[in-house]
Amino acid sequence: MSLTETAVSDRFRDLADRLTGRVVTPADPDWDVERLGWNLAADQRPEAVVVPADASDIAVVVGFARDLGLRVVPQGTGHLAAPLGDLSGAVLLHTSRLREVEVDVAAAQVRAGAGVLWGEVTSALAPHGLAALAGSSPDVGVAGYLLGGGYSWMARERGLGCSAVTAIDVVTADGRQRHVTADTEPDLFWALRGGGGNTAIVTALTFGVFPVVTVYAGMLLYPIARAGEVLRAYEEWTRDLTEAATTCVRLLHVPPLPDLPDFLRGQAFVGVDGAIDLPEAEAAAVLEPLRALGPAIDTFGDLAAAQLGLVHMDPPQPVPAIGDGLILDDLPEAAIEALLAAAGPEAQTALLAIDLRHLGGAAGRPAEHGGAVDHLPGRFLVYAVGMLPDPALAPVLEAEVAGLRAALEPWASGRDYSNFREAAVPPSRFYDTATLERLRAIKQAYDPERVIRTAHELD
Ligand SMILES: Cc1cc2nc3c(=O)[nH]c(=O)nc-3n(C[C@H](O)[C@H](O)[C@H](O)COP(=O)(O)OP(=O)(O)OC[C@H]3O[C@@H](n4cnc5c(N)ncnc54)[C@H](O)[C@@H]3O)c2cc1C
Repeated sequence: MSLTETAVSDRFRDLADRLTGRVVTPADPDWDVERLGWNLAADQRPEAVVVPADASDIAVVVGFARDLGLRVVPQGTGHLAAPLGDLSGAVLLHTSRLREVEVDVAAAQVRAGAGVLWGEVTSALAPHGLAALAGSSPDVGVAGYLLGGGYSWMARERGLGCSAVTAIDVVTADGRQRHVTADTEPDLFWALRGGGGNTAIVTALTFGVFPVVTVYAGMLLYPIARAGEVLRAYEEWTRDLTEAATTCVRLLHVPPLPDLPDFLRGQAFVGVDGAIDLPEAEAAAVLEPLRALGPAIDTFGDLAAAQLGLVHMDPPQPVPAIGDGLILDDLPEAAIEALLAAAGPEAQTALLAIDLRHLGGAAGRPAEHGGAVDHLPGRFLVYAVGMLPDPALAPVLEAEVAGLRAALEPWASGRDYSNFREAAVPPSRFYDTATLERLRAIKQAYDPERVIRTAHELD
């Protein structure tokens, strides 16, 4: 439902009086700032944005929304804002104030509030010689990443991030605060690890971390003219690769932005980046076949674990972007040709990057006592993205991204990774039938009125 403008301001004024945090409505001067997510291309227009101060505030918001027939949309950063679509009838719940990071060094565990970014976790861990299964970008949120799965630069060695989660604090749709573990609420604990935030609003997550001080990591960049040769070499290199190596091959068309270094600005490359968690000499030997191709730029070397977030050069601040992904079971010559046609040396493309992250290893095996997503199938996790400096470019980029998905479809695994799907798609893309049925039953048990709405829904 959508409330009239007067009703909205009256109701939300009442709500604001009951919260420690803040309620922002279209009547507020900073509305157009507060309603934005990290992906600035998503034009989010909810009934109101609520910035709770704590879990008690969230419980109040949930009760308020339920009473009015509104839905609550939890959001940490808005990296995955694109699939949300129309937010009328919804309250956007920004968890950005839930920022506590507690490190338990003895137990090798971290408890992070739902608004915490990965960069904050890795910085807190570094002094203790510990590292987390963090994603490639320091400003991705811990919550969305772990609720959807979590592919880190240690994924092939240590599995998905969500399988390292040991406890989750939530507010359920009935307004109750719960500490969810395998013992207290086994179904909810299972559903939240890979099933997204559909079944409860997360206020904090506790997860295991690992004794890692340095990792052999970096990137190799070759001129885009060598794209075919490097893609073929990478495909061969990854056929029988140590699980200590988690890497990505990418076609990169860097825009001519003024604040970029000269060697990148306006240039196109084929590159390999990632991490090899082995002693330096062993890791260098693993990398040698790609090094022997003679990259123009080679930054691989021992890197402090806390610096891993720099390797992939993800944008450090919100940007407008259009992207989407799929999983490939294989990368035969015809698939390489399709990639070259999309973003190789001859291509006229609006895409910034096509990434193929190497799967398999521990990321490809069901984790012991894992959740709704306990591994990812397939050989390569593909994500294609372009920046949108002008909204008029959107149809061009959307067509390119959709065209790439269609061109690679013959080798698609049929199962997608929800964190890399930026379009609203049926949930059967992410889960097999039994998993989806179990997720839906848990949603029905904990949120029968469908108060909570997330990036990828179960219906
Ligand atoms: C630049 C960039 C780099 C990335 N790198 C990686 C990577 O290396 N590995 C990887 O696996 N993924 C990566 N991703 C994908 C990323 O994991 C997803 O976009 C993820 O959903 C982001 O989580 P968030 O909390 O930052 O985003 P949000 O958009 O804030 O959250 C995404 C969704 O998570 C759920 N959610 C968030 N907070 C809560 C909560 N408190 N309670 C309940 N549900 C909640 C909701 O469904 C929400 O819609 C990357 C994305 C981008 C844009």
